Amino acid sequence: MKRCEVCNKPIRGSYKKALGNYYHLEHFKCSICGKKIEGSFYKYQGEPAHADCYERKAVPKCDICGEPLTGKRYITDRWHNKICAKHRNEYEKCPYCESFMAHELQTKKHEYPDGRAICSKCKEKAVDDKDLASLIFRELSTILSKYDIEVDPEPLNLRLVSKDTLEAQVGKGSRGSTEFNEVIRESLIGGRDVRRNFTVSLFYGLPDFEFKTVGAHELMHVWIYENTPYKDPSRKERFIEGSCDYASYLVLKYIGNEFTELKLRKIKEKPDEVYGEGFRLIKKYVDEKGIKSWLDRLKNGIKIKEE
Ligand SMILES: [Zn+2]
Ligand SMILES: [Zn+2]
Ligand SMILES: [Zn+2]
Ligand SMILES: [Zn+2]
Ligand SMILES: [Zn+2]
Repeated sequence: MKRCEVCNKPIRGSYKKALGNYYHLEHFKCSICGKKIEGSFYKYQGEPAHADCYERKAVPKCDICGEPLTGKRYITDRWHNKICAKHRNEYEKCPYCESFMAHELQTKKHEYPDGRAICSKCKEKAVDDKDLASLIFRELSTILSKYDIEVDPEPLNLRLVSKDTLEAQVGKGSRGSTEFNEVIRESLIGGRDVRRNFTVSLFYGLPDFEFKTVGAHELMHVWIYENTPYKDPSRKERFIEGSCDYASYLVLKYIGNEFTELKLRKIKEKPDEVYGEGFRLIKKYVDEKGIKSWLDRLKNGIKIKEE
């Protein structure tokens, strides 16, 4: 004898079988609005529901246009915005966290006076004063020292600069918007403490995870200058730039959060011939031979080349 899941009375005649239970037709009701369900239904928290009710109640809405995101592909970003896939090409993406910069979102677009775009959430994490920058460089130095890459950040002259200033110093880069950052080394005026003569210029207003990525790269340039025969910062070589990106990789892996994950992926997948290929070259080498061997090759001026 079949019994109705709702009233527990025996069922005679027509019935509805759903979700592993039997129901009197008049007792097969929507768990959201309480009205009878005829035809198709959705499962909502284990109970039946009208398709419309389900959509209203349970389906997430697009944070830009408000449409329910049922059954269609949608995008979730690192700030947990949920967005219809159709908006993919409608909005500019934040160059740092890759979120869409729509004004409906908390990741709305902000423009720095030098024209660089950043989303509002990344801007909250922006490194905008020298004290914070110095603090972060000390943190980077501590992390790198765990891998026997010792660089004292104290004597470095840290500068937070605009796009125009940096471009005037190192020229326009054809790479990503966060890649214009390079160590600017002023000429050496004798003495042994070459570190005092380093000026590290980075864009102002980078979100901390980006600042750390670039900062670790630049610290590695300083280490290379101080510990190896490679002194010419203007020569962009695979072995050198790849090693500097590998330092960023070590730091990002050490920190390990969803933003550093994104940066790690970008470093690994960089199509660039010098940086991207260089990084993959060093990574392959270190995976096989270890960090010490890589650093020894640098110190002894023995380049790592593709085999
Ligand atoms: Zn019943
Ligand atoms: Zn309903
Ligand atoms: Zn939408
Ligand atoms: Zn962002
Ligand atoms: Zn570099």
